[in-house]
Parts: sequence; structure tokens; C-alpha cells
Amino acid sequence: MRLLVVEDEVQLADALTEILKRNRYIVDTVYNGIDGLDNALTGVYDCIILDIMLPGMNGIELLRNIRKEKISTPVLLLTARSEVEDKINGLDCGADDYLTKPFVTGELLARIRALMRRKGEIIDENKLEYNGLELNRNTCSIIREGSELKLSLKEYQIMELLISNPKQILPKERIIEKIWGYESDVEYNNIEVYISFLRKKLAVISSPIQIKTARGIGYFLE
Ligand code: CA
Repeated sequence: MRLLVVEDEVQLADALTEILKRNRYIVDTVYNGIDGLDNALTGVYDCIILDIMLPGMNGIELLRNIRKEKISTPVLLLTARSEVEDKINGLDCGADDYLTKPFVTGELLARIRALMRRKGEIIDENKLEYNGLELNRNTCSIIREGSELKLSLKEYQIMELLISNPKQILPKERIIEKIWGYESDVEYNNIEVYISFLRKKLAVISSPIQIKTARGIGYFLE
């Protein structure tokens, strides 16, 4: 799980980062809104912890920008007691939760866990969903906020494998085993071709989920 902390009070930011790392999260920390936006737009994070009053660009503006770019990463706003208006504004702009400063560590961790659960995969018999990206078995397509794109069967099968194991690196051998079977003479570069088709299709529907390469090993969703 990768988290982004955007907080300009350096001491608080660094303390938060330390606590989160100790709780086995991967954490990137930035101290202003511009860097925050740059990082958030990569779409690689599982959760963003976002202060409201920030130099460069405030948290609300940052939030508005990433939602406009269809980045659906859960956002936990950090607010000061006096920022009630901003808090409401933030929730209206697509924040998922907020925490009023000062807060206790336990509550922050609980809120983050709750946000992770909320974004987890929902399976019914005909669709798989991961972080806003839906894979529909009936129509053999990927769907993202109303945009739908057909997949070939092999593309579908690879995507299904990835989305069913969203937190894991899938080795190429395993993909071949699962989809083509042990006896097949499919080469690694056949898979690479399908992955490249899938990446293009994911880009077409502006998917926040991307297929990343684990060099020398295989692929994973991010
Ligand atoms: Ca601040």
C-alpha cells in the first residue's frame, strides 16, 4: 500500500510519515500543493493524506484537480478546527473522509484502513471491480465511469488474472500457466504484446489502474 502525505508543517508531516512507515505503508511525503498534485496525478497511491492550507496550491484545489483527471484515489483531508467551511467544501469536491487536527495516531490509522476497505474489490458473478475499474464478464469489456471498451478473450483473461490478484506481482510463467496451460509453447513476448494492447485500452478509458512491469519478473496492477 502506497500513501501520499501532503502537509506543509514539516514536523507533523515527518512524524506522520514515520508512523505510517512503521505500520508497513510505503510513504511519499511532500510539503506543498504543487508537488502534491504532481505526485497524486501519477495515480499510484492507495490513499492520499491531504492538508487543506498548503503553499503553492491548497488542498481543495489539488483535490478538485485530481478528481477532474479521474484519479479516484481515496483522500483523507486534514483540517484545522477553524476550517469547517473548507471541510464541507472538500467533501463536496470528492474527499472521502477528514480528520481534525490535532488527532491521535490510532484514529488516523483506523481511518486509512477504512478507506482501503472501501476501495477493495467487489465481486459479483459477472463483474470484477478494482478501484473504479470494472471488468465485465458478459460483455468481455473494461468499464470506467461509463466508458466501455471491448477486450479480446486473451486480453480479458489476462486482465481478470491481474484484477483478481491486485496486490501481487504476477510472474510471466504464472500467466502462461493460467491462461495458456503448461504444455503451451507461448513465448514471453506474446504476453508482452497482449500487455501492450491492454495498456493502450486502459489509457483510452482513462483508467486510474495501470499495468506495471516488475522488471525480469512479471506484471502487477497499480
Ligand atoms: Ca497547512
